[in-house]
Amino acid sequence: MSGVKKKKGLSLSTQIFIALISGAILGVLIHYFMNDGYLKNTIIVEGVFYVIGQGFIRLMQMLVVPLVFCSLVCGSMAIGDTKTLGKVGVKTILFYIFTTAVAVCLALGVALMIDPGIGVNIDVVETADVVTKTDQSFVEIILDIIPKNPIQAMAEGDMLPIIVFALFVGIMLAKLGSSASTVANFFSQFNDIMMEMTMAIMKVAPIGVFALIARTFANIGFSAFLPMLKYMGCVIFALVLQCFGVYQILLFVFTRLNPIKFLKKFFPVMTFAFTTATSNSTIPISIDTLDRKIGVSKQISSFTIPLGATINMDGTSIMQGVAVIFISQVYGIDLSMADLLTVVATATLASIGTAGVPSVGLVTLAMVLSSVGLPTEGIALIMGIDRILDMMRTAVNITGDAVCTTIVAYQSKALDKEVFYKGE
Ligand code: ASP
Repeated sequence: MSGVKKKKGLSLSTQIFIALISGAILGVLIHYFMNDGYLKNTIIVEGVFYVIGQGFIRLMQMLVVPLVFCSLVCGSMAIGDTKTLGKVGVKTILFYIFTTAVAVCLALGVALMIDPGIGVNIDVVETADVVTKTDQSFVEIILDIIPKNPIQAMAEGDMLPIIVFALFVGIMLAKLGSSASTVANFFSQFNDIMMEMTMAIMKVAPIGVFALIARTFANIGFSAFLPMLKYMGCVIFALVLQCFGVYQILLFVFTRLNPIKFLKKFFPVMTFAFTTATSNSTIPISIDTLDRKIGVSKQISSFTIPLGATINMDGTSIMQGVAVIFISQVYGIDLSMADLLTVVATATLASIGTAGVPSVGLVTLAMVLSSVGLPTEGIALIMGIDRILDMMRTAVNITGDAVCTTIVAYQSKALDKEVFYKGE
C-alpha cells in the first residue's frame, strides 16, 4: 500500500490499477494461506480492511448530496431557460432507456447462445435466503419524484426528488437574477468547495481501493465461483460487449471522439464503481473527471450523472437478462418470444427502479422473474456469487451514464475537445 502512495510520479489511474491488482492478490493469498482465527478474521479482514474500505466509501458518500444539490442548482441556473433544460432532459432520458433496452437484448442473446443453466446441478450451487419484497407501485414511484419535503429527501439521500428540487431552485435563481445574487454566489462557492473536497478524496483512492478489494477476495476466494462459471461468463461477456462495444460505437458515431482515450481517462471512476459496487457514491468523482479530463461542462453532467446513477443501470439489466435465461433453464421452464419481450420491458423498468447501492439489482430481479412466471426462489442460486458481478455491473452502469452525458454535452455544444485531447 505504502509503495503505491510513495510513487508520486505515477498517474492516479496507474496508482489505482496497481492498488486493485495488489489488493486482489493479497486477498486471495489471505483467503487460501492464512488460517481462520482472530488475527485473520477480526484484525485484518473485518478490522483493518473493513475500516479503511468503508471509511473511503463513506468519504465519497459524504459528498454526494451536497455536491449533487449545489452543482445542479448552479447548472440549471447557468442554463437558465427551461426549454434547453427540457431538451437536455428528454434527450438524456430517451438515451438512457435506449441503452438499457439494448443491454437486455444483448444479455438475452448471449445467454441463449451459451445456455448457462443447462446441466447445472442445483445441489453444488450455494444457495441463500431470498429477499423478494415487492417495492412500491409504479404510480407511487412517479409521485415520489416530487418531494413532499426537500430536506427529508436530502436527509435520506433520495436522488430523484433532490434533482427536481435543485432544478427548481436553479431556474428560480436564474429568473430572479441580481436580486438573488447572494444566494446564487453562495451555491457557486459551496459548489467549488465540494469539488475541491472531491479532488482531495480522490488522492486517497488507491488506499481505499486496495482495502476494499483485499477484503472481498479474502472473504470469497475462488471456490464459490466454480459451479457458476458459465453463468458468470455469460454476464461478464455481455458486460464487456456493452461497455467496450456498444458504448464506444455510440460515442464514436455521435461525437467522433477517440473511445480509447475516453476509457483511459474514465478508468479511475470505473475502478471506484468496481470496488464499491455503488453507483451513487461515484457521482462526485464522475462529474469531476468528466469536467477536468473529458471536457464535459458541469452544467450538463451535474444533471445527467445523478439522474443516470439513479435510473440508468445497463449493467444491472444485463445481469437480470442472463439470470432470467439461467433460472428458466435450471428449472426447465421454456420462455416464448412474448416472454422475452416482456423481459426486455420489465428489466428496463427495473433498471429505473434499482437504487445505485450494492445488491439492489438482485431485489428488483424478483420483479423481472415474476413478470414471466419464473420462481423468485431462483435468485437464491445466484446470490452467493453476486458480489463480484455487482462490482462489474456497477462499473458498466456508470460508464453508460458517462458516455451518454458526453454525447448529450457534445450535441448541446457543452464539450471542450481541447480538454479531451489534453494529457494521458
Ligand atoms: N450496485 C449497483 C449500482 O450501484 C446496483 C445493482 O445492480 O445492484 O449501480
